Amino acid sequence: MHNQLLEKLGIAPFQRADLGEIQVIRDAPGRPHEGKVFAAVHAHLDDVPYYAAGLCAKLISEGYTGYIIRTSNDEKRGGGTPAENILRNEQEHYRMAAALGFKEVFDFYYQNHEMDAISSLDIRGRLILLFRLLKVDTVISFNPWGHGEENPDHWVTGRAVEEACWMCGVETDFPEHLEAGIQPYPVREKYYFYGRPGQPYNRVVDISSHIEKKIDAIVECRAQGGGNLGSQLRARLAREGKRLPLLGDDDRTADRAFVREFLLDDDREFGRPYGLACAERFYYIDLRPPARTKVDEYVEKYAVPL
Ligand SMILES: [Zn+2]
Repeated sequence: MHNQLLEKLGIAPFQRADLGEIQVIRDAPGRPHEGKVFAAVHAHLDDVPYYAAGLCAKLISEGYTGYIIRTSNDEKRGGGTPAENILRNEQEHYRMAAALGFKEVFDFYYQNHEMDAISSLDIRGRLILLFRLLKVDTVISFNPWGHGEENPDHWVTGRAVEEACWMCGVETDFPEHLEAGIQPYPVREKYYFYGRPGQPYNRVVDISSHIEKKIDAIVECRAQGGGNLGSQLRARLAREGKRLPLLGDDDRTADRAFVREFLLDDDREFGRPYGLACAERFYYIDLRPPARTKVDEYVEKYAVPL
């Protein structure tokens, strides 16, 4: 039976052998990730807010320092001229990042919807510099091989992130960084978005206790992402002499209520098979070296004095 049908019936989906068991990740007590750094790399203002705002809020609350990198200039979305759209998206990106608690924002400003024409080496080099400079342990980004991905900005960004993750640990790549005092630093953990139906996932992250932060992030996405649909609906109804009690008495309340009621269906659906109020899906890759290698064990067992 198809996984999506199983989920509609409230039955946990089958495992895919190549992905391993699906792990349900719940809130961790304390701050187990203190000292660790993650970079969320997306292309557009509203990518991280929808795909991973809950995970980002959770990791920051558990001790991570988070940085956000936006690769495109978002010039095509926002209802204005390209220049107006770039400014609107830029300003809203800062507000969205502040709402989630990111420490710093980086914008690459590649031309929106045209990122398949940029040099892959250019974007990879810029990511490698940032990953090394910030000492990034964990990345959150697009699945570079994600099924059904139709937006070139998404897959170009995902491919560059995947390449940068291991090359930033290789000292012979961009050796001038070392001359500048920036050391190699490999990324050890990766979370790829569940970006389109049918994409693989092996982690279901419980974001129930972080849903207010996710709503905080989405309501800042007004140039794109539907963050102001609630206040727009409230204004339209008022012109027609009507009101919806759901939308409250002010624009902020209306926007938050609209997001909660109408824009988080995926999160609720992803949580349902596991008894969670809200969840996000990820394809997680763990590249952390084992504490003891097979060679360590062999040496310990068989090494003899000279
Ligand atoms: Zn996008």
